[in-house]
Amino acid sequence: MSQSPPISRAALVARDAADPLAHFRDCFHIPDNLIYLDGNSLGPLPKRTVERMHQTVNEEWGRTLIKGWTACDWINAPARIGAKIARLIGAHPDEVICTDSTSINLFKTLAAALTLNPGRRVILSTRDNFPTDLYIAQGLIQHLGGGYELRMVDGERIAEYLDDQIAVLMLTHVNYKTGRMFDLPALTQQAHACGALTLWDLAHSAGAIPVDLNSAGVDFAVGCGYKYLNGGPGAPAYLFVARRWQPLFSQPLSGWMGHAEPFAFTSIYEPAPGIGRYLCGTPPILSMAALECGVDLLLEADMQQVRAKSLALTDLFIHLVDMRCAGYGLELVTPRDHAIRGSQVSFRHPQGYALMQALIAANVIGDFRAPDIVRFGFAPLYLRFVDVWDAVNRLLHILESRAWDREEFHRLKPVT
Ligand SMILES: *Cc1c(COP(=O)(O)O)cnc(C)c1O
Repeated sequence: MSQSPPISRAALVARDAADPLAHFRDCFHIPDNLIYLDGNSLGPLPKRTVERMHQTVNEEWGRTLIKGWTACDWINAPARIGAKIARLIGAHPDEVICTDSTSINLFKTLAAALTLNPGRRVILSTRDNFPTDLYIAQGLIQHLGGGYELRMVDGERIAEYLDDQIAVLMLTHVNYKTGRMFDLPALTQQAHACGALTLWDLAHSAGAIPVDLNSAGVDFAVGCGYKYLNGGPGAPAYLFVARRWQPLFSQPLSGWMGHAEPFAFTSIYEPAPGIGRYLCGTPPILSMAALECGVDLLLEADMQQVRAKSLALTDLFIHLVDMRCAGYGLELVTPRDHAIRGSQVSFRHPQGYALMQALIAANVIGDFRAPDIVRFGFAPLYLRFVDVWDAVNRLLHILESRAWDREEFHRLKPVT
């Protein structure tokens, strides 16, 4: 086997020039000299979103006013954008709706899953799942008057805990802290084999990793609009309900927008026939317009190319940190194995918080997750291979000079 030549910045410039996704970078506003490794927390602003917001505010809201609900098709925005997101996650267009927040969508789908698997009392999840997923399950259980249990176990051994008590397996596809990815098809199949339903949270996968819900037979899923979908801060989220489950249950947040005929104004709730019953109240049209731009942009990219580049970027980052930053206390927590790696790289570091603050001051934006994890997200549409090189350069400089050890970098901010 020939040995690979040492990597140089010039070689990475050439690699960027040959990147089939390179042209997407210019579709985003990225401040000069900023290396943005936090698209898994808040995606950057697509240029077309600026124009679309201008039009939606000035023309649609400003001039069309209330007529916009039909003249501008605002009323169908949740279904229309849901159908577009469906293409990113291997769902039918009538199985996804864009609405509410991920947290609220977890409540609705979890309530549905528990009702549709009567006789079983356990929600199985991982101890290190994203807190809101666990909190929502706890709140729902309390609301249902107890009688249910949230069983939180070690993710690495999740399959061993699947038994005939489990009503629903509730997992996040890619762990937000470690970047570890579950085998979604295999676990879905194992859950079904023991009579459990599945609810997958795609917050850290959809838009960065190809997801095929229907080929895996998934029952329910939720996901986030402001991360890899680049929908803007607090963008609406989405949920997926497999066709086979839609007619059998209507979720408990029975607001008028999920009614079969909202404008009949009847006093008795009757759920819409399909996925529309998972709506609750009036959709936020300005936010939906912004999200639609992000989704449209992503749909122009080939998801297989996106995944290939994501793995190449994270491989490069891991490799360069291995080679250049050894001995400074960084401990890789993200799997090296492609099959179980999402689109981020996380390290443990005893001074993780201060280190990330120093990186941010040096224009490399990642984030910190308590107690000691520095996290770097790699969104293939706008990151270049040279960005990885430059980020590691700045990281090395901070580690060598101990620039993180300044009083200001130790001061805890409310959002990390
Ligand atoms: C980001 C994220 C959420 C966010 O939920 P919100 O209701 O939008 O605040 C939920 N679940 C996971 C796994 C996440 O990573």
